[in-house]
Amino acid sequence: MQFLKSPSARNADVLVGVRWFKIAGEARLQRLSGRIIGAQVGIQNGQDRYTMALVLAHEFGHVLGLDHENGVCATMNSRLAVNHPEYCPAPPPGMWVCRLLRADDVRGAVSLYGGTVRRIRGPEFCPR
Ligand SMILES: [Zn+2]
Repeated sequence: MQFLKSPSARNADVLVGVRWFKIAGEARLQRLSGRIIGAQVGIQNGQDRYTMALVLAHEFGHVLGLDHENGVCATMNSRLAVNHPEYCPAPPPGMWVCRLLRADDVRGAVSLYGGTVRRIRGPEFCPR
């Protein structure tokens, strides 16, 4: 699956906007016979770009059909703790996660769409 920029909002399957929200973000999904056929994704303005990227990755996870995961570290954890998913370790000062997707997120996508899960290599945190 791939997300591509649409030439017009009218033809887009997913609309993304930065808005004033009380919550970090949300994905409103349109379904037909249980299948996701479109979505509106909103993220809260005023967040730093790292948090916005994390929130957007989470909301796109919903667009792909992933649910919240609150047992292990995942971008799909339902809550953020400052700048990281609730069950993931906090990045050290001046650092940030090198990858937005965690192993559990990838396993979830593979279970829905097929493929294989490869071992994540390299450091967990990178300089901002
Ligand atoms: Zn969510």
